[in-house]
Amino acid sequence: MSDQVLEPVFELIEKSEDSLIRLCQDLIRFPTVNPPGNDYQVCVEYIGNRLKNSGFTVEYVRAYGAPGDSAEYPRYNVIARYETGRKGPCVHFNSHIDVVETGDGWTKDPFAADLIDGKIYGRGACDMKGGLAASIIAVEALIKSGVELKGAIEISGTADEESGGLGGVAYLAEKGYFSKDRVDHVIIPEPLNVDRVCLGHRGVWWAEIETFGRIAHGSMPFLGDCAIRHMGAVVAEFEDKLYPAMAARHTSMPVVPEGAKQSTLNINSIHGGQEEIKRTDNAGLPAPCVPDSCRMVIDRRFLVEEDIINVKGEIAGILSDLETSREGFRYEIRDMLEVIPSMTDENAPVVEATSAAIEEILGKKPTLVCSPGTYDQKHIDRIGNLKDCIAYGPGILELAHQPDEYVIVEDMLNSAKVMARATYNLLIKE
Ligand SMILES: [Zn+2]
Repeated sequence: MSDQVLEPVFELIEKSEDSLIRLCQDLIRFPTVNPPGNDYQVCVEYIGNRLKNSGFTVEYVRAYGAPGDSAEYPRYNVIARYETGRKGPCVHFNSHIDVVETGDGWTKDPFAADLIDGKIYGRGACDMKGGLAASIIAVEALIKSGVELKGAIEISGTADEESGGLGGVAYLAEKGYFSKDRVDHVIIPEPLNVDRVCLGHRGVWWAEIETFGRIAHGSMPFLGDCAIRHMGAVVAEFEDKLYPAMAARHTSMPVVPEGAKQSTLNINSIHGGQEEIKRTDNAGLPAPCVPDSCRMVIDRRFLVEEDIINVKGEIAGILSDLETSREGFRYEIRDMLEVIPSMTDENAPVVEATSAAIEEILGKKPTLVCSPGTYDQKHIDRIGNLKDCIAYGPGILELAHQPDEYVIVEDMLNSAKVMARATYNLLIKE
């Protein structure tokens, strides 16, 4: 891929540096914090207006009835499509517009989008408004340069990725926006680093386990039955059996970082007994009671080699063994959320096109990776049934959701060139 056809496109991208910076800053300055899902409408209209000026047809889709959708916090999405006028495939860039809460520890204003030493700071700079800005600049340069293209290019800005994507990509996929008659190749500019191609992600199963006991006076606990001690037995079984078994299970998925190359379990929370009040809040003392309920939320991440039925069965087995071995042990387990792992073939067209583009622009072979956590690829794969999907973007993975999150302008420029080249490769091939 060392032809010179795209030289004018790359030149245009370099000349667009100021425009790219302003675009990224404007996007960060919409505080699209989720929850609750703030400022979605103004943000998607900003994206839509910009793309209309570049010749795109723009649609706004509100996810009526999706979790969190309300008159105050409507779940708005934008889908923009550019037709080249020649028959060919469609390349789609999908970015989520929502950001997580800011949290503590910032030394910069999280919504000022300050440019300091070639970095733009702000909540969402890395995850993933920098990626969205780079993809817009990339396709604008392709169109403006006049190079001959076939097929169509789409850009979407979608809601709620950080809370599961039901009001965003899942909703759009249900409505056919991510389907084979419309889209062929999908690039999601999530922050996986400028020189890596992300093929997919591990699976997730969230569940709540509750153990039961019997209330009694705390001075005579032998007259009751302590639900927290029963939960302690569950945790002990996890330590003795589950954690060693998971640690022994490795995957062929190239998950980063290294520690995520195995099955993992996070105990998200445990609560039993009386309402939790910080004792520094001067809320009085607790009354002496034996707790009759204890609840634990678990977050189990699993591998493409594991079946979700076995993942659930392993924990169900531990609980039912305790029911026979431990006196008074009673429990319930409730599913909260499940996502099957997704991994695009490493020889898929979008992987090859993007890898070749990285090699050309950055002069090195890309690393193929998988994400430890999920992102909207799950809906594109499972609902849209589109298998040619990757994540590729300029942000640095480790900065996502952190205080003083930033994106490097040079990385945005380079990734814009990679995105333009990959799009060109995919559009001319068929
Ligand atoms: Zn993200």
